[in-house]
Amino acid sequence: MAYTVKELFFTLQGEGAQSGRASVFLRFTGCNLWSGRDEDRAKGSGGCALWCDTDFVGTDGENGGRFPDAGSLALKARSLWDRSVRDGSGARPYVVCTGGEPSLQLDQALVDALHAHEFEIAIETNGTRPLPRGIDWVCVSPKARAPIVLERGDELKLVYPQGTSDTEPERFEHLAFRHWFVQPMDGRAREESTRACIALCQSRPRWRLSVQTHKLVNIP
Ligand code: SF4
Repeated sequence: MAYTVKELFFTLQGEGAQSGRASVFLRFTGCNLWSGRDEDRAKGSGGCALWCDTDFVGTDGENGGRFPDAGSLALKARSLWDRSVRDGSGARPYVVCTGGEPSLQLDQALVDALHAHEFEIAIETNGTRPLPRGIDWVCVSPKARAPIVLERGDELKLVYPQGTSDTEPERFEHLAFRHWFVQPMDGRAREESTRACIALCQSRPRWRLSVQTHKLVNIP
């Protein structure tokens, strides 16, 4: 199948347990919880449509476009890694599939093609859809009014607070994840959200604080 990509670039992972790691970011176009258009925010099926600050519409970002097959997209991702990585350390190439909602497009053919190019594959998903087999690092970020079907993975990263009972941290603590993060809601209430996250981590220590380090150091 063809893949529609908003942007594809080399950077550092800014958030969560893999923060600071060299990564190719593969941002797919489209999300199942919101169209991405401001006029549709109130109609989004997830509560996150009201605050989402990610541009996942169209193909006009860096290296964005329509890729006709899995092989061409995986090759482009690998070329971005090879263009920058020079130390010969043998570190495995790392790709973070994000969006929008990457599970709308990341299929078994693309997982296999990325693995054929030696990538370790991470996904950042809202957890509402099943995934193809073999993804190496699964990060689920639950959203209000969007029940998750992925109940196990490597990392659960909750933007907090979202102001709804279905996104309170204790609602997720029975699930099978290895790392637990709360990340302050960005925007006008960020300071208040940060205080709420700190208080949460101090009262329920399985949770750790994730900050968006890429915004602190001004990288994409
Ligand atoms: S799931 Fe993520 S990308 Fe989609 S609307 Fe919500 S916050 Fe934005």
